[in-house]
Amino acid sequence: MSKFKTDILIIGGGIAGCIAAIALADIYRVTLVDRLAEPKEKIGESLAPAANRILKELDLLNDLEKKNNQVFQQNLGMQSYWGSSQVQIVDHLRNPDGFVKSLDRKAFEIFLRTAAEKRGVTCFWETDFLSSTYETTWKVQLQSGNAKETFQIEADFVIDASGRQSRFARNLGIKREVEDKLIACWISLPNTAVNTMSTISASKNGWWYSAVTPNNKRVIAYHTDADIIEKSELKTTASLLEFAKENNEISALLNGETTTIEFHGIVAANSTKLSQVAGEKWVAIGDAAISFDPLSSQGMFNAMASAMQLRALIQQFGFTDTIQSRYTTQITHIWQHYLKHKSIFYQVEQRWKTTEFWKRRNRDFI
Ligand SMILES: Cc1cc2nc3c(=O)[nH]c(=O)nc-3n(C[C@H](O)[C@H](O)[C@H](O)COP(=O)(O)OP(=O)(O)OC[C@H]3O[C@@H](n4cnc5c(N)ncnc54)[C@H](O)[C@@H]3O)c2cc1C
Repeated sequence: MSKFKTDILIIGGGIAGCIAAIALADIYRVTLVDRLAEPKEKIGESLAPAANRILKELDLLNDLEKKNNQVFQQNLGMQSYWGSSQVQIVDHLRNPDGFVKSLDRKAFEIFLRTAAEKRGVTCFWETDFLSSTYETTWKVQLQSGNAKETFQIEADFVIDASGRQSRFARNLGIKREVEDKLIACWISLPNTAVNTMSTISASKNGWWYSAVTPNNKRVIAYHTDADIIEKSELKTTASLLEFAKENNEISALLNGETTTIEFHGIVAANSTKLSQVAGEKWVAIGDAAISFDPLSSQGMFNAMASAMQLRALIQQFGFTDTIQSRYTTQITHIWQHYLKHKSIFYQVEQRWKTTEFWKRRNRDFI
């Protein structure tokens, strides 16, 4: 079995992992692994304007801005039908951080992977985390996908950036606290509407979301609880379209389209937190630490911000135990703040008080 040594090993080359790698590469030998050969199509495209500050600090913003209409397009605002059938519009014109960016997620993650490689990060793509042991340093077992070859990386510090699966922490036996059962079923299709603002619209058993992404593509997602809707009802385009009929705004966006729709299936969208977000010489960042309800549109920003928080702590304290307690306090604070805001936001919707989906959200608030 071949062996390799590094200062910091990051497991997961999504947004959190790439941002952490880029942020730390000027001080440490950083190694980044991801089980996928290349990023896959993903839902989750609205990048909060505050993320521009992080991208600027890492000297990524200029290069990204050159890719307007390829990697992202400016999102002019959000129209919501939430709490009433009356539309409410939040535009981004006066936001000092600029517009929301509507990303092509795959293209954005390729952009970040490429930037990490250019900054000197050692990258192993198509490489799966298997297990780890700790004795003064971490010894991490990995498997490279193409040859199914197992190898070991020795690292002084490990960052778990493997998303909701939190593969490294889970392997240590750490569980996730689960707040709810939210899932999202999503489709994409060519956009035909002139209005390119994002749309949020509440429904009897959940809520709908739509946004326009580069190349005039539209994504539409339906969010509900996994145990409320029969899974078979969300298995095909036809069954999702049947559901969409209950929502006027989404029906209007679909505009009778059936043939050009790409069905992407169901993904987890619930709020979850790792019960321990840091330990001896390791930390979890992004979704691996805390995953948000998509209603917040904060997941990608949190992925970047937690990576930057970790860099600041490492710069100040090195790989000492102080990081554990400081980082845990910071994440706990963000989580409590997030839960409070989530409850307040769901509480605004009172039109379907008796359906299970909304009853659960109102009960949370009390
Ligand atoms: C329906 C939905 C809509 C959303 N909408 C938005 C939105 O509009 N705006 C927003 O900001 N956020 C949104 N989000 C949240 C956002 O997508 C996530 O917060 C973000 O992807 C987190 O990034 P991450 O890098 O922490 O994790 P991930 O994106 O999950 O990346 C984890 C990486 O780890 C890799 N990995 C996993 N296991 C292993 C392993 N064993 N070995 C090696 N690598 C591994 C994966 O391949 C992946 O590349 C949405 C989420 C959902 C579910």
